[in-house]
Amino acid sequence: MESGLEQLDSRRFARLVEASRVLNSTSELSELLDFIISEAAALTNSEGASLLLLDPDTRELRFKATSNETQGNLTDMAVPLDSSIAGTVFRTNDPLIIEEVSSHPVWNSQVDRASGFQTHSILGVPMHNVSGKTVGVLEAVNKLDGAFTPEDVETLSTLADLAGVAVERARLVDELKQAYRQLNELDQLKSEFIALASHELRTPLSIILGYVSYLREETESPATANQLDRVLKAAVRLRSLIQDMLNLQYVETDKHRLTMETFNLVNVVRDVVAERDETSDAKQLTLCLDLPEERMAIFGDQGAMEVIVSNLLNNAIKFTAEGGRIDITLQQRGDEAWLEVRDTGIGIPPEQLGRIFTRFYQVEHHLDRHHEGLGLGLAIAKDLLEAQGGRIWAKSQVGEGSQFFVAMPLVGNDRE
Ligand code: ADP
Repeated sequence: MESGLEQLDSRRFARLVEASRVLNSTSELSELLDFIISEAAALTNSEGASLLLLDPDTRELRFKATSNETQGNLTDMAVPLDSSIAGTVFRTNDPLIIEEVSSHPVWNSQVDRASGFQTHSILGVPMHNVSGKTVGVLEAVNKLDGAFTPEDVETLSTLADLAGVAVERARLVDELKQAYRQLNELDQLKSEFIALASHELRTPLSIILGYVSYLREETESPATANQLDRVLKAAVRLRSLIQDMLNLQYVETDKHRLTMETFNLVNVVRDVVAERDETSDAKQLTLCLDLPEERMAIFGDQGAMEVIVSNLLNNAIKFTAEGGRIDITLQQRGDEAWLEVRDTGIGIPPEQLGRIFTRFYQVEHHLDRHHEGLGLGLAIAKDLLEAQGGRIWAKSQVGEGSQFFVAMPLVGNDRE
């Protein structure tokens, strides 16, 4: 091929170099195919051109692009490998020149019938991919000035190989884009399902917890009390799982996905704590709620705020032994609302305090864990608070208990 290229006149050579630059910088398949077709016709001084690629499933060649003004729309029309000119080029892996197709034994006149175009002469060359495998055929159709020359063969062969590599790359990019789109759709479906399931599971579980707690208090039989305790324990575990599902919704906290509005934080805290009552009953914890009389307007995402408060409460319940106490206090400090969740639980060693807000960090080693959870709650609470202009921090004494604080800027009435 080198000897052929040496014979190319400088005009064609320059055009091939330019074509190579364009082919390398385009990864949009249809744009690429159109460009190859117009270059193939121009470089060989032909009326038109077409490009066919092997369909790996049917082992037929399919038209992927044709010069519209000459051959109409043949896109995706299949031609057999064994009885067509393009098929012959593909199988022999050699260029082929035919001066008058109508007299050629394997000429497939269907193509002309379908396109309404009259083909006379054809120059067909094989296209190769980066590893040299034949992947298709590039054809120049109806030479405008006389017959196809060896120089045309060299030019078109060079273009075909540059095009083969570029088309394969563009196809891979296309496949990647499609896979990425599908992944995104799946991810979206998964998030929607998690959001729906966690929401729908909460209500029936609250009812179960409520009734079982009530029965547990009322029963006088130690055997029944024992069985109800086991039901309660299982329900508390389920509650913790649902909390993890709620957190998963917010794993990728994109500020734009938050629905920012002004709402009363007092109501959010009251509602979350009311829902948790049965869970703490199950462990016979004393839950004390201290809320201000007046409203505390903050600007944020109400759903996210509910998740933050219930993460803190869920942890306090989880890490506090039976009979312990949890205090939830909401008050104004300067121009901020401060929420404190204090428990008399196992506490957190001082050197770990800074790390509990990191994703998947859990103080207990995973091999001897007694508490369920994914280790996401606090990290997500931190992300969500920062996205809403708030803060979270903790204090703790091992064996005595922990205090978690949340601060959110209060908004004046003008924002409502
Ligand atoms: P999870 O509770 O699912 O493990 P979190 O992110 O909510 O995940 O908490 C991370 C870790 O911080 C917990 O595993 C626990 O070790 C510690 N922790 C959180 N809250 C408390 C608490 N109130 N008392 C003691 N340890 C806590």
